[in-house]
Amino acid sequence: MTIDQMTTQLQTALARLQEDYDTLQAEHEKALMALATLQALKYSSLRLTGAMDLKQMLEDILAVIFELMPATDAQVFLYVGEELFFGARVTDGRSYEQPITPPRKHGITYTAAVTGETVIVEDLRHHPLFEGRENATSPLLAGALIGVPLKIGPHVAGVMIVGFEEPRSFTQQEIDIAELFGMQAAIAIENARLYKQSQQNAAEVEAKRQQDRLYYEELNRTKDMLMDMLSHDLRNPINVIKGFVYILRQHGRLDDELGRDALDTIQRGADQMAELLKDLLDLAKLETGLALTLETVSLNHLLEKISDENQAAARQKNIILSSGRSTPDVEFAVDLRRMRQVLANLVSNAIKYTQDGGHVDMEGMYTDDRIKIVVRDNGFGIPESDLPRLFEKFYRVKSGAHAEVDGTGLGLAIVKEIVEQHGGLIQVESTLGVGSTFTIDLPRR
Ligand code: ADP
Repeated sequence: MTIDQMTTQLQTALARLQEDYDTLQAEHEKALMALATLQALKYSSLRLTGAMDLKQMLEDILAVIFELMPATDAQVFLYVGEELFFGARVTDGRSYEQPITPPRKHGITYTAAVTGETVIVEDLRHHPLFEGRENATSPLLAGALIGVPLKIGPHVAGVMIVGFEEPRSFTQQEIDIAELFGMQAAIAIENARLYKQSQQNAAEVEAKRQQDRLYYEELNRTKDMLMDMLSHDLRNPINVIKGFVYILRQHGRLDDELGRDALDTIQRGADQMAELLKDLLDLAKLETGLALTLETVSLNHLLEKISDENQAAARQKNIILSSGRSTPDVEFAVDLRRMRQVLANLVSNAIKYTQDGGHVDMEGMYTDDRIKIVVRDNGFGIPESDLPRLFEKFYRVKSGAHAEVDGTGLGLAIVKEIVEQHGGLIQVESTLGVGSTFTIDLPRR
């Protein structure tokens, strides 16, 4: 074999070897890509399964990058409003203690975010976007970097920066890998956002359900009380009336004492029913939110009138009913008929729930923008446990001396409704055995 022939043969063998090497190299790159994809998929499926600690997820994603390329530092910045903030960071294991440098509005990170394009810088020291940062000590900023916008559809949620200590050139494959991990980070961010939103929605739905439940409980309670009232407060007087009408018919006695008692009782029963129906209808009307007819009235005049109208009832129980005048007098705007109803209700309650010989005081006060009217008695008082529900429809105190007094349990509900329609508040303070104080507080307008 001549030298020439030998050279040719060697050249052929070398060329074949080169070919084999290229094939192997391509296979190797393919394998790397496949590995990266697998890793990325692994993390994205991990994220879908639950725990929603975004920072941890991003760190997991970044950590895999170090297995695939000789990066020294990887960081994620996230948009909060218009600004990018630090989200997560992983370094190559060496300890880089430098603080995270916040991205500059016209630096590399914002450029990737604003353009939505991957930024590749092979030598940071000679890059215009890097000007002014030459003295930074972060390894991220020392040599080269790839900046990948984290896109969810057209929307950019943040930027991933993969940094290298030394200037270097990147293969297409490395860029592909960085972009692939950028996609994974974007998915993690989106998942975390959706998760947070679903948690929030769940909380909102739960709050609404809770509200509805309270509403239905309240409705149910009103219904129970209504049934209670119908079966007791309405049936009692009906039975009484029926019983006495029967006696009168049987004995035909209308002119002796028994006959007069019977008629009195019938009258009381009928009055009680009439009052209950009146209150019920009144409350129903109020609850539909009828408009108030406002007029200007004098506070002292109003209190005097209520006092006059209730003197007879007070005298029957030897109760002293007094009304303190506010000096000087003041005028304010109210629906007079409704406000008289409020005060009449409070005063007649005070008389009803005070023992013989007690006293009931009314008092008017005002400031620049509020009017206060107080109705105070030294009567039975109200057990503390009854106070929170006192203004509910049909609610009555059932204990002690209260049990002896007739009523519908609607008066205070009506009072509260009217006061609130005036934009005011009603409060009660009471001590059992000492007395009660009801205060209404109204805007003067
Ligand atoms: P009622 O028709 O039973 O008087 P209200 O709604 O006016 O209904 O009052 C509810 C309950 O509040 C009454 O049953 C009574 O026990 C209590 N109450 C109201 N005002 C007073 C008061 N001034 N002193 C003591 N208890 C009162």
